[in-house]
Amino acid sequence: MILAIDIGATFIKTGLFNTYQKKFIDYKIFSTPKTTKSFFKILNKIIIDFKNSSIFNKIGIGFPGNIDINGNILFSPNLKFLENKNFLEKLPNNFIIKIENDANCAAIGEFKFGGFNVKNDLLCITIGTGIGGGIIINKKLFQNSRKIGMELGHTIVIENGEKCSCGKFGCLEAYSSASGMLKRFKHKNIKTFEQLLKQSIHDKNAKKILEEGFYYLGCGVSNFINIFSPEIIILSGGVAKAFKFYKKEFIRGIKKHTIKFLQNKVIIKQSKIKQSGLYGAAGLF
Ligand SMILES: [Zn+2]
Repeated sequence: MILAIDIGATFIKTGLFNTYQKKFIDYKIFSTPKTTKSFFKILNKIIIDFKNSSIFNKIGIGFPGNIDINGNILFSPNLKFLENKNFLEKLPNNFIIKIENDANCAAIGEFKFGGFNVKNDLLCITIGTGIGGGIIINKKLFQNSRKIGMELGHTIVIENGEKCSCGKFGCLEAYSSASGMLKRFKHKNIKTFEQLLKQSIHDKNAKKILEEGFYYLGCGVSNFINIFSPEIIILSGGVAKAFKFYKKEFIRGIKKHTIKFLQNKVIIKQSKIKQSGLYGAAGLF
């Protein structure tokens, strides 16, 4: 049994993963606290509560940011209060804990449990509040020796474009993430991506923001195809749900910027599993 924890900017999703049945037997969701003290308080409570009702000694955690090999949080634009803190010091020390960037976790989750039967190489782009990406090359998570993760969401799609959560301008995340699209739409009553998607049915401006979001997503993804040429690209996260409505714009971005001979060598699919990040947190072991 493994306790999997997927930390997001809005929610912390948790589940007990049965390694024999390869499925979650218990699942709980919490709101993500907004201060360091309350954040670690709830995380410790989650661990203790699960421990009181079941037996496990392994905990896999997906985190929305960049963490080095010692557990130091280097970069976390959507949970800024945690930057420069050490994650592992604040958790109980009687467990084996593995922590990984959430986008890398999603890639592991898709590779091991996604149901696409991928042989060797997979790129998973997670599009939610932010944009992250993880890649499996030759069956292994692509990582450098310092374990500093990739920041695919901060690929520049427009020079001097919209301001991004990272402080730079013109990043893919500023155009194609839920937070980026909502910020561009600037409507006080539209606060979630689901609301924006609904609005786009009758509102031309909302539709345009989504069309541009998916077009730039195609532009960003074309860079990744040109670099990695994976067998398959899987789109996961809340924004990926709208893929079927805006596929045309996405493909236009891909075709315009992907080198011709690579265009037909990649399959692009929407994730079939709801919680690829949570599966990946369990899949760290
Ligand atoms: Zn950025």
